[in-house]
Amino acid sequence: MVKKIEKIIGYYGGIENKLTGLAKLILMFAIIGLIVSFVIAGNATRPSRFDGWGERGISYFWMLAGIVGLLYGILIYFVLSAGADIIRLLKKLNGIPYGGDISKASKDTNYYCSACGKLVHNESECPHCYKKFNDVSMKDGVNTS
Ligand SMILES: [Zn+2]
Repeated sequence: MVKKIEKIIGYYGGIENKLTGLAKLILMFAIIGLIVSFVIAGNATRPSRFDGWGERGISYFWMLAGIVGLLYGILIYFVLSAGADIIRLLKKLNGIPYGGDISKASKDTNYYCSACGKLVHNESECPHCYKKFNDVSMKDGVNTS
């Protein structure tokens, strides 16, 4: 007899995922708001009521409103995302399943000469002590020595 086996492949939901969804929604509206405000700013046929400084030309008021709206959207996106991450980390610490993924940092590396310890780039020999590198694989994974 063949049985269906249930496997947990991840979790979803929770306030942390709702926060992430709200953050993305607000950022999306801010981007749409920027586009709309630039369309309004360039519309020279509109009545001059909201023209700001640009009488019947490009309205800087609407351009500024769009940019400020986008900046606030980005700010809210990061604040809500950070809040969601904190909830995920707290749930992980307490062994409670959490929805979504905890944000990860990317690795940042530099190369240093093993003889003199100074920073080197894509050279096949050290520009400081002029010693040749034996086991370099700095440029696209190809050994340049
Ligand atoms: Zn060196």
